[in-house]
Amino acid sequence: MKKYDFIIAGGGMAGLSLAYYLTSSALRDRSILILERDLKNRNDRTWCFWEKETGPFEPILFQKWDTALFYGPGYTGRLGMGGYRYKMLRGIDFYAFVEEHLAKFPNVERRQATINRIKDTPQGGFVIADDEPYLADYVFDSTFQLSLDQPERHNLLQHFKGWFVETERACFDPAIPTIMDFRAEQHGDCRFVYVLPFDTNRALVEFTLFNDRLLTEAEYEYALRHYLSQHVDTGAYQITDVETGVIPMSDVPTTELPSEHIIRIGTSGGYTKPSTGYTFNRSQRYLRELVDNLASREKPARDVSWFKRRFALYDSIFLNVLENHRYPADALFTRIYARNPGRVFRFLDEDTTLFEEIRLFATMPIGPFLKGLVDVLRRKIISR
Ligand SMILES: Cc1cc2nc3c(=O)[nH]c(=O)nc-3n(C[C@H](O)[C@H](O)[C@H](O)COP(=O)(O)OP(=O)(O)OC[C@H]3O[C@@H](n4cnc5c(N)ncnc54)[C@H](O)[C@@H]3O)c2cc1C
Repeated sequence: MKKYDFIIAGGGMAGLSLAYYLTSSALRDRSILILERDLKNRNDRTWCFWEKETGPFEPILFQKWDTALFYGPGYTGRLGMGGYRYKMLRGIDFYAFVEEHLAKFPNVERRQATINRIKDTPQGGFVIADDEPYLADYVFDSTFQLSLDQPERHNLLQHFKGWFVETERACFDPAIPTIMDFRAEQHGDCRFVYVLPFDTNRALVEFTLFNDRLLTEAEYEYALRHYLSQHVDTGAYQITDVETGVIPMSDVPTTELPSEHIIRIGTSGGYTKPSTGYTFNRSQRYLRELVDNLASREKPARDVSWFKRRFALYDSIFLNVLENHRYPADALFTRIYARNPGRVFRFLDEDTTLFEEIRLFATMPIGPFLKGLVDVLRRKIISR
C-alpha cells in the first residue's frame, strides 16, 4: 500500500484550504491525497468574514464592503468597522479556485470516495474509503462529527434559511450589507435577518436564529416573507436560489490532536467560534499556523497559549447568557456592536488586549454576565 505524507479527509472549506496552504509552503512537494465524497461543483454555501489585509482568496471574492448596517433596539445605523472590510466568498468560486491551483501539483491526488473509518496505527494514520485502505504520516480529518450533547456544556445552534432574491424595484443599496436586523419578531429568542446585497435588485436575505430548536421550513419562510414585505420595498420578487445551514455554537471541548497521526481541522477541530458561528477566517488563520509548524518543526499541532484560552471562557459566558435568556438578545447584540465600533471585530478575532476587553465588558449589562460567569464556573466544577 502506498504511504502518503498527508491524507486530507474531507475536501470542503478546511480540507481544501489546508491543501492550498501546504502547496504554497515548503511542503509543496509532499504527497497529498484528498478524499471527498462530493463533487464540490455546487454553490452549497456563502462565506462572509471581516479582514483588514488582502487574503489569499481576494481575487475571487464575490463582494466586499467597507461598512455594514445594524438594526437593533435603540440603535440603527452604520457600524464603525475599524478598518475591517466585510467580505463575501461563494463556495463554488472557492472550490474552483483551489481545484485550479491544485491541478498544478502532480503530487496532489484527489479521490471521490466516502470515508468509512479513520484510525491511528503504529505505521501512521489509516483511512478506509469506499472499502479501499489508505495510509499516511498524518491524516487531517474534517469529517469527524462533534457530539453536542454534554448537558453541562452550552449547545446552541445557529440555524438559518436564506433566499437569493431578484426584485422588481431597486430596493437594495449594494454598498452596504445588513449584518444584523433585529426587527424580526424575537419570540423570546435571538432572531435576526442578514442582508447581503449584490446590486440594487439582487440580494441574499437570510433569517437566522441562535437557539436550540430548529424551525419548520414554513416558519423560516414565513419570517423571510414577512421581513421582505415589512422592511424592503421589493415590488414583486423571485427566489432564484436558497441557502440553509446549521452551525454549532457550543463550548463542548474539541480535540485537534486526538492521536499521534490524526489532526482534526475545520468545524471538526473546534475551529468554529462558539459565540458567533464564524468559522471561515478563523480556519484560514489556524491552518496557516498549522502548516507553518509542520514546515518548520514537523509538528502537526498549533500552539495555544494559556493566556489566549481566556477567550474560550468569554465564549462560554456569552453562550450562558444567551441560552438562559439572562438579557434580551437583541439589546445585547446592540450594545456589543453599537458601543464598540471596530473593537468588537478585533475582540471576536481574539486579537484584543486585556485592557480593550475590559473596555468592551464595561459596555455589557454587568448582572447577567456575572450570573453567567458563576454558572459557567459551577458547571466546570461539576464536570470535573
Ligand atoms: C450554509 C452555510 C453558510 C455558512 N456561512 C458562513 C459564513 O458566512 N462565515 C463563516 O465564517 N462560516 C460560515 N459557515 C460555517 C463554516 O464556515 C462552514 O460550515 C465551513 O464549510 C466549515 O468547513 P469544514 O471544512 O469544517 O466543513 P465542510 O466545508 O462541510 O467540509 C467537510 C467536507 O467533508 C466531506 N465529508 C464529510 N463526511 C465525509 C465522508 N464520510 N467521506 C467523505 N467526505 C466526507 C463533506 O462532503 C465536506 O465537503 C457556514 C456554514 C454553512 C453550512
